[in-house]
Amino acid sequence: MRLDGPESQNIEDRRGSRGGFGGGGFGGGGGRIAVGGVGGVALLLLCLFLGVDPSVLLNGGAVDPAPQERSAQAPSGNPSGASGQEDAGRRFIAQVLGETEQVWKAQFSAMGRQYQEPRLVLFSNAIQSGCGGAQAQMGPFYCPNDQRIYIDLDFMAQLQRQLGAQGDFAAAYIVAHEVGHHVQNQLGVLERVERMRNGGNSNALQVRVELQADCLAGVWARQADRERHILEPGDVEEGLNAAAAVGDDRLQRRAQGRVQPESFTHGSSADRVTWFRRGLENGTLQACDTFKS
Ligand SMILES: [Zn+2]
Repeated sequence: MRLDGPESQNIEDRRGSRGGFGGGGFGGGGGRIAVGGVGGVALLLLCLFLGVDPSVLLNGGAVDPAPQERSAQAPSGNPSGASGQEDAGRRFIAQVLGETEQVWKAQFSAMGRQYQEPRLVLFSNAIQSGCGGAQAQMGPFYCPNDQRIYIDLDFMAQLQRQLGAQGDFAAAYIVAHEVGHHVQNQLGVLERVERMRNGGNSNALQVRVELQADCLAGVWARQADRERHILEPGDVEEGLNAAAAVGDDRLQRRAQGRVQPESFTHGSSADRVTWFRRGLENGTLQACDTFKS
């Protein structure tokens, strides 16, 4: 990948601040975190993950990927969270996020709308999000309540190694997928899905949400490449490979030796590849209607 655009200013570096579960209990110490603070308001209490179900990936120690009981107030703008750590991983993420900002700003503006940039929180091990406590093992995720993407860089690197989804563009696809959820949030898709979810068949809907985020990641790559030539030979293959690596069938086969399509939440490898490719080839939001039919 060729990334020479400006870095995003929306990175919150909270690595090293242990703000989650673990020894000390929930939200201990900080004082800033209000447990159960989002009372009464019907907020979306789902977090959207790249596709790594911890119970599938890990042996034991699984955690509930969608914390429902506990909520934390969305941390307000937190400049003190920036610890000044500068490293290649952070820079890379900031550049990819910056690229997504440019693309989605332009796409939204073409629709006569304004794109509100998401924040991206770097954390280590565990974190309090606006959707509750989260652990790195859940994989990168997006929380609609606080409009933030949460990533543990160490875990992401480990995950990519384990799943054989390596390469810089594979990592960029992961970030772009989470940004895709933010785009869905901005467009009201998540809210509509949340309303439909009450009617049941929640997994099937969830799969459509996830495949759309894959497609939006493809749209981003296409548009960024059109404007600034970010793609180098091999990048598209890396992205497609990463999309396949996080397919539910492949993850399930890895973990339990068999596949249960009815429990899919993100889609099969083939579906994820198909939708990522569709976004990549068309480069338009219209190509990403995973809810049709
Ligand atoms: Zn997702």
